[in-house]
Amino acid sequence: MVNYKDLGLVNTRDMFARAIKGGYAIPAFNFNNMEQLQAIIKASVETKSPVILQVSKGARNYANQTLLRYMAEGAVAYAKEMGCEHPEIVLHLDHGDSFELCKSCVDLGFSSVMIDGSHLPYEENVALTKKVVEYAHQFDVTVEGELGVLAGVEDEVSAEHHTYTNPEEVIDFATRTGCDSLAISIGTSHGAYKFKPEQCHLDPKTGRLVPPPLAFDVLDAVMEKLPGFPIVLHGSSSVPQEYVDMINQYGGKLEAAIGIPEEELRKAAKSAVCKINIDSDSRLAMTAAVRRVFAEKPAEFDPRKYLGPARDEMEKMYKHKILNVLGSDGKLAQC
Ligand SMILES: [Zn+2]
Repeated sequence: MVNYKDLGLVNTRDMFARAIKGGYAIPAFNFNNMEQLQAIIKASVETKSPVILQVSKGARNYANQTLLRYMAEGAVAYAKEMGCEHPEIVLHLDHGDSFELCKSCVDLGFSSVMIDGSHLPYEENVALTKKVVEYAHQFDVTVEGELGVLAGVEDEVSAEHHTYTNPEEVIDFATRTGCDSLAISIGTSHGAYKFKPEQCHLDPKTGRLVPPPLAFDVLDAVMEKLPGFPIVLHGSSSVPQEYVDMINQYGGKLEAAIGIPEEELRKAAKSAVCKINIDSDSRLAMTAAVRRVFAEKPAEFDPRKYLGPARDEMEKMYKHKILNVLGSDGKLAQC
C-alpha cells in the first residue's frame, strides 16, 4: 500500500474548486509512453499549469499499470528538476470498470480514479460508484463518476450511439454516491471519428466540415441542479486538421476524422467543466511527426530521431491546449 501523497502527487479536489471559481479547466492527458509523458510534463511546467495524467485500460495493457505509476512518480521529480517546486500532478485512472481495479490503483498510489458505471442500469451505477467512493475516500483519493453514455471508441470503451446525461438524475447520483466529480455526455465522443460527415455542414470559408454543436442546454441544466459541482468532459480532442492533412500527405489514410471545435471547448472550460480529457490529439500529433520523418528521411533508423520530433510536436500541442483552449496556464497554487 502506497499513498499518493508520499509520491508527491495531488488529488483533484483543490484544483477543481479553483478551476470552477477561475473559469478554466484542467487538462487531462492520457499517457502510455515516455515521450508522451515528457511532453505533458514539460508543457505543464513551462506554462505553470496543474495537470492530470490519465491511465486508460489500453495503457495498462500496453505499458503495465505498475510501470505507469512509477513513471508518474518520476514525472513529479522531473517537474521539480525543471524548476517547478510545487507541481500539481494528478495520477488518474481513466474508465475504471470494477471496484477491484479502482482499489488496486488506490493501493498503488493513484490520487484519483474514475469508476465508469455509465453502461449499467442506474441503481447499479449508484451502488458501484458509492462502493468505490467509500474505499477511495479513506485515503483521500478523489473519484469521478459518469452519467450518460458517450459514443465512439476509446481503447476498450465503445458505444454506437450517445445518450445525453439526464439532468434529473444528477442530484440523486452525486448525493448518494458521494463522488467528487461527474463526467457527463453532451455530445463529445471518444476517438478521432467523432462525427459522420453527414452530421456536419461545410464551412464555405475553410472548406472544412463543421460538426453539430454540443448540447450546452444539458450542461446548463446539470449546473443548475448541482451548482459548483465539478463536471468532466471526456472525448474532447479537436482532431486538428493540420495533423490529419500531414498524416495523409505522408502516406497515411485518415478519412473524415472530425473532432470538437476548440471554440466549444473554450466555452465549456469557462463553466463548471473543470476537467477536459484529450487523448486522440496527442496520437495524431505523434503519428504526423513520425510519418514526416519516415517520408523525408527514409534511411533513418534511430528511434530517437523520429520519437524526438514526435515528442516536440506533442509538447507544442499540449501547450496550445493549456494556453489557448483550457486557460489553465499560471494556475499553480504555488510556483
Ligand atoms: Zn473517456
